[in-house]
Amino acid sequence: MNILVANLGSTSFKFRLFRFDPATSLGAGGAGAATMLAKGGYERVTDYGQAIDDCLGELKTAGHVRTAADLHGVGFKTVLGKNLTGCLRADTDSRVIDALNGFKEIAPAHNPPYALGIQRFREKLPGVPLVALFETAFYQWVPEAATRYAVPQAWHDAGVRRYGFHGASHKFVAERSAELLGRADIADRVRALYQAGPTPTEGAPLRVVSCHLGGSSSVTGIRDGVAIGTSMGLSPQSGLPQNNRVGDLDSAAVPFVMKTLGLPLAEVERQMTKESGLLGLSGVGNDLRDVKAAAAQGNARARVALDVFIHSTRHWIGAFLAELNGADALVFTAGIGENNPDIRAAICAQLDGVGLAIDEAKNNALRGAEGEISAAGSRTKIFVIPANEELVVARETLRCISAKN
Ligand code: ADP
Repeated sequence: MNILVANLGSTSFKFRLFRFDPATSLGAGGAGAATMLAKGGYERVTDYGQAIDDCLGELKTAGHVRTAADLHGVGFKTVLGKNLTGCLRADTDSRVIDALNGFKEIAPAHNPPYALGIQRFREKLPGVPLVALFETAFYQWVPEAATRYAVPQAWHDAGVRRYGFHGASHKFVAERSAELLGRADIADRVRALYQAGPTPTEGAPLRVVSCHLGGSSSVTGIRDGVAIGTSMGLSPQSGLPQNNRVGDLDSAAVPFVMKTLGLPLAEVERQMTKESGLLGLSGVGNDLRDVKAAAAQGNARARVALDVFIHSTRHWIGAFLAELNGADALVFTAGIGENNPDIRAAICAQLDGVGLAIDEAKNNALRGAEGEISAAGSRTKIFVIPANEELVVARETLRCISAKN
């Protein structure tokens, strides 16, 4: 079974091809043994149709597929849709493209490329099942109190609420951390979540705080494999400071800068998405490596940018430690979380009072790989788990297609 995962940006097209063993067990929480056969992509894409042709050409040349019919499905990590979430067929269910278009103002960098790209896949590969896995899907069972903003009812009815993003990444962390903690029952529950919903569990609750720290970042609280809240809200420019997108911001700031700096709304929006976050704070760049290097050379703004990032991450970890009444595991994932021991150490500093202690030597030695970095006496285990979002999309795509057939 060949499943292609397509990652669509406004000017980019990235893909990975996974092959699942036909004997693979996917139902009832099966893990789905998969091999990644190919990985590639194109920048400065102006026509997704051409990119689809190029991608298929590459896969044919490499001998992975003979024709498009050898693709059993294509999966997309769509961001959010209006009144729609979960894992859905995007070729036969017209609601997917409508829902993406319905919220294009909330995710302008993500929704239009996916709506357009999925349409082009439909035209180019008729008969190949297409599946959209919304990033919001992992948050379907978050308690209402953690999803609401205190806005007039009409705003809420129009869709102004917390949705949450990085769902595929945090779902993978939920599954893998359960395995590392010896809770195969919870790992099975996570794998079957989008088909079965949260099913009853036995034993002590498993409490995980997952930190996806990368180009964009979020912290999610997870109980028994199900999200109970997350730092991102209505849009992917909330919560922690992002690379060049503002994180949490008091809503009064927007009318204030419009009036006092004379900025039109479109310019405020541009600055909040392109000139804020780590870039805006540091004035150096949007890559944490550059910000760290500048801070090490004495750049005060770069130091502040790091401090804000660390403070904000700790703030959200604290929120979920309170919600979960402690945690069995704290997990770091994504580019910064996987590769940056200094930032992990700063985030975990002086948390022994709430049962968290990092092992300095283990932490410093671990980069880009899975492992435990907590000190021997730490009540909460601290893990690094490399992100594996595409595998989650590929598995859910296969599950969705199998369920429908
Ligand atoms: P995205 O997929 O959202 O673009 P990533 O998960 O790749 O983001 O994370 C990008 C961030 O991770 C950058 O800020 C970068 O500084 C950091 N990062 C990536 N690789 C490394 C590394 N080897 N060492 C330190 N930081 C890294």
